[in-house]
Amino acid sequence: MNQEISFIQREALKEKPATDSLGFGKYFTDYMLVMDYHSENGWYNPRITPYEALTLEPSAMVFHYGQAIFEGMKAYRTADGTAQLFRPEKNMKRLNDTCDRMCIPQIDEDFLLSAIKQLIFTEKDWIPQGEGTSLYIRPFIIATEAYLGVRPAKEYKLFVILSPSGAYYGSQLNPVKIYVEEQYVRAVIGGVGHVKNAGNYAASLKAQEKADRLGYAQILWLDAKENKYVEEVGSMNIFFKINGEVVTPKLTGSILPGVTRDSVIQLLKHWNIPVREERISIEEVFAAHERGELEEVFGAGTAAVISPVGELTWNDKTIVINDNQIGHLSQDIYDEMTGIQLGKKEDPFNWTVKVAQVEV
Ligand SMILES: *Cc1c(COP(=O)(O)O)cnc(C)c1O
Repeated sequence: MNQEISFIQREALKEKPATDSLGFGKYFTDYMLVMDYHSENGWYNPRITPYEALTLEPSAMVFHYGQAIFEGMKAYRTADGTAQLFRPEKNMKRLNDTCDRMCIPQIDEDFLLSAIKQLIFTEKDWIPQGEGTSLYIRPFIIATEAYLGVRPAKEYKLFVILSPSGAYYGSQLNPVKIYVEEQYVRAVIGGVGHVKNAGNYAASLKAQEKADRLGYAQILWLDAKENKYVEEVGSMNIFFKINGEVVTPKLTGSILPGVTRDSVIQLLKHWNIPVREERISIEEVFAAHERGELEEVFGAGTAAVISPVGELTWNDKTIVINDNQIGHLSQDIYDEMTGIQLGKKEDPFNWTVKVAQVEV
């Protein structure tokens, strides 16, 4: 696919919010990327247009049968003022994997990435400056065909919107309290839990609401079949450091293959720290704590990068991990990953991709 990306200019640019008021997902930049799909044309008409409200028919299939998918990644401002992305080709690949599972037509990954770079280049002044800040990138696709029969739609729209985001943490990483959920499940093998399908999040809200009510920050999900094996924490992958070794649940088909998860595994291998991908039961986690061997627990995902777990509650039993303090390994991984993302540390893995290389 080698299409011209057209540009439709706004009349006036928005005022940019102050960095300390950004939070997450509240503000959107001046422009977005849009592309259409029709079964007769394929993907067509890529354009950078003003960020604005959409017009859709009430019968648009997304409202009825839920073909809606997304991705999440970030652009970082480096010390020398350029913008860079972190392993964006992984997000493009995962977007297509999600499309495949949800019967949405495939996208040219190279083309989409270059279009995203062009959008970010257009919006480079929106990339916030300051510790822990970034420009959050949200690609998504919805079924737009006006039809009420149940089948894959023949028309779609792809959007990429950008949202300047503040630091996830204040001055330092903050260990959180986690509730091990036994009543509700997130995903089943053979289902859609391994892809970024919007409905997965709708399905998780009830349990999250329960955790909120009980005073927990996030849910730890168990496998749907046996209610036994650990899967994910909230919308992050999870890692356990037990007696000097790191374990993370292997990708059985109901776990989202996180880019951060993969990066943490590679980093640990690079540091010669033993890391294993295998099924781990919640019983084993509690038993390791009993033996005094559960050294650290942390979540890993694009939003927080690393989120240390300070407390786990399962079956009315609560364990405190590492005295509710940030573990050394969690801190080291966080420092290394954010250092690479911000261009402050060497990138031996070639993970970062400069945006300024794009010709516009
Ligand atoms: C997006 C997501 C993650 C984290 O993936 P990253 O690529 O590391 O951001 C983990 N679990 C779920 C359910 C997710 O949707």
